[in-house]
Amino acid sequence: MAISSVRTDTNRAAILAHIGAHGASSRADLARSLGLSPALITKLTRDLLGDGLLTELEHSPSRGGRPAQLLGLTAGSFGAIGVKVAPDHLTLVEVGLGGVVTRTATEPFDAGHTMALARLTDTVSDFCANSTHTNLLGVGVGLPGNVLEQSAGVVDSTQLGWSQLPLGLALRKATGLPVLIDNNVNALALAESLFGTGRGHDNFLVVTIGTGIGAGIVAGGAVVRGHSGNAGEIGHIPVAENGPRCQCGALGCLESLIGQSALIETARREGVIGADAGITALATVASGANEAAQRIFAEAGHLLGRAIAGVVNTLDPELIVILGEGAESWTHWSMGFEPALRASVMSRKRGIEVAVEGWQDDRWAQGAASLVLSTPFDADGVSGEQGRLVRARLIDSAASDPS
Ligand SMILES: [Zn+2]
Repeated sequence: MAISSVRTDTNRAAILAHIGAHGASSRADLARSLGLSPALITKLTRDLLGDGLLTELEHSPSRGGRPAQLLGLTAGSFGAIGVKVAPDHLTLVEVGLGGVVTRTATEPFDAGHTMALARLTDTVSDFCANSTHTNLLGVGVGLPGNVLEQSAGVVDSTQLGWSQLPLGLALRKATGLPVLIDNNVNALALAESLFGTGRGHDNFLVVTIGTGIGAGIVAGGAVVRGHSGNAGEIGHIPVAENGPRCQCGALGCLESLIGQSALIETARREGVIGADAGITALATVASGANEAAQRIFAEAGHLLGRAIAGVVNTLDPELIVILGEGAESWTHWSMGFEPALRASVMSRKRGIEVAVEGWQDDRWAQGAASLVLSTPFDADGVSGEQGRLVRARLIDSAASDPS
């Protein structure tokens, strides 16, 4: 393939990826964002329209002058599979390049079973076989753990009971597709950045509250993974000098004080809920105006607010997105969170926006699919060999003249 044709294909892929990540765009937007000349954009988009990969949409409103014609992705051309792995179930979604979820499924799963890996690869390849898109770019997997080596997809996860599991390799063999695996909070931050409240923001935090407390950090437009992929573990900020023993082994971590099991334990001890009751019961009594239950959430919110204030002072995000199973009770958390956050951040950051997103379980799986959908934009090559394979699939399908 001649160099000029490689460059053309790369530019075509970049146009598709940009529209996938940022939504319908005008030719002028594309030229500006991709640093290509308007004449070249006109030529490339004409080809893409001709190939049926792009569609002309309504004109965008503009102040004065002629409204610009918007170009969008043709529905059904490119998609990715996202898989969220939990200890007891798998959530699978199929997502188009524009972020639209076209299919979802939840399957029972036992991460500790000796046949867990085979069960997972069978489930994922069955799901891929019924794709609604013409071209599947790859499979993204989000899990509560750590990917030791992205190229092989070797996974460590205390929560799933997996040690050095070659998950990526097994899934690639089973599906024949590129496979990208990441910690699920990182994947969620990516989904927020591509399709959620974070869209259009280069610096924001995603805070998840539920069984654990976690954060995804987006800084300078990219998800911050840190040296070992473990950035954002705010649940393990040391808070109480001689606090309870945390899952991680340390004393008095934030999560040991405000994670789901800590809230349940306090509520049971104080007789707010029965000895067998759980977080749903606590949320229900809090919503029923039970003051003790509301105080438990507000105190948790207060500790979270102070911890997040420290993160805000350190990283200077413009937005905090709160989500997770626990966000259902955010009205009660916020009673403590809001005043603690505003009082503890530096005065310039006092107006920081806090957005709460309604909980959808498939959001995590959509995050996993985003690992694939964002790779065309992965200029730093974080996704390595698998990301290159995703880009190759995009370019191959987009090439009008594959000579
Ligand atoms: Zn800890």
